[in-house]
Amino acid sequence: MNEAKIAVVTGAGGFIGGHLVDRLLGEGYAVRSVDVKPFDEWYQRHDGAEELQRNLEEKSACLEVTEGADEVYNLAADMGGMGFIESNKALCMLSVLIGTHMLMAAKERGVGRFFYSSSACVYAAGRQTSADVVALREEDAYPAMPEDGYGWEKLFTERMCRHFTEDYGLQTRVARFHNVYGPFGTFDGGREKAPAAICRKVAEAKLSGTHEIEVWGDGLQTRSFMYIDDCVEGIRRIMASDIQDPLNLGSSELVTINQLIDIVEGIAGIEVARKHDLSAPQGVRGRNSDNTLISSRLGWQPSTSLVDGLTANYRWIYEQLQGAGRPQHAARA
Ligand code: NAD
Repeated sequence: MNEAKIAVVTGAGGFIGGHLVDRLLGEGYAVRSVDVKPFDEWYQRHDGAEELQRNLEEKSACLEVTEGADEVYNLAADMGGMGFIESNKALCMLSVLIGTHMLMAAKERGVGRFFYSSSACVYAAGRQTSADVVALREEDAYPAMPEDGYGWEKLFTERMCRHFTEDYGLQTRVARFHNVYGPFGTFDGGREKAPAAICRKVAEAKLSGTHEIEVWGDGLQTRSFMYIDDCVEGIRRIMASDIQDPLNLGSSELVTINQLIDIVEGIAGIEVARKHDLSAPQGVRGRNSDNTLISSRLGWQPSTSLVDGLTANYRWIYEQLQGAGRPQHAARA
């Protein structure tokens, strides 16, 4: 029997990394999961994976974890929703150490393929000033004026991937994720994003009987949100493809934040009064993913509807809140 391919997943203790480990194990990979967090803070644990707690800002750690690896999925980053990235710009930019050292290590170790998780935050803010959006095409990232801090780091590391391919022949694949949500995602503590935050607030309203929630901004800002299963499927498809340029990986189902709340109300079976906080961080006014390129190159694009994805996410968050007192992110293993 052929030996299993070794895949390294960085950021494996986080939201997307945990789901990706699950998928790769299911496909028969030998998986090495790495994260800086103590194991009891990992969102998911997997019996079948080799799990390591390492700080990948250190090049020595990157060299250690890439030994013998066929594929690397570099998802580790210091990040969060708007509330986090607007007030932690330096911290977000320091993730450049992880990207740099992981790329150097992958090159030195002769890794077969390197995946990098970029973000829709690489797109110029000037193209996202209206809620009535023109969806973002990959070429719109230049001339560059990304989200301050977090977006600049993502664009720089994307660019490094390109030059490691051109100059050293390292095979790199880059996806620009647009807002990912789903079970095992961050839903409180300050790093959560809109879908999880809204699900949590509505679930708390339901549990407490006080049917009122706070909403950041006027609720008319627009976004698209990708369900985690589509994200993991897209990562695997992009990694297996021959596409070296960055690709959007996002849903193109555009909603206002108010519409998002309408959907969650429907799932929860309650209506909530909305208290709009106009001074809260809101990010860009409108953003959507143009999926022309991914559809034409891969014959595939994310397709889980918001209603279906939010139903699964709401249920999971509701259960976590009901079980308050036990760890929020119950281990799968
Ligand atoms: P997450 O915060 O849940 O996971 C990231 C993990 O990286 C965390 O567990 C963290 O502990 C780990 N990490 C941070 N610094 C580290 C270090 N020095 N060494 C080792 N591990 C370290 O985030 P996520 O939502 O799973 O995002 C995964 C990737 O996708 C990130 O690169 C993120 O920027 C990108 N992304 C996510 C979204 C989204 O909507 N979730 C959108 C765009 C891009």
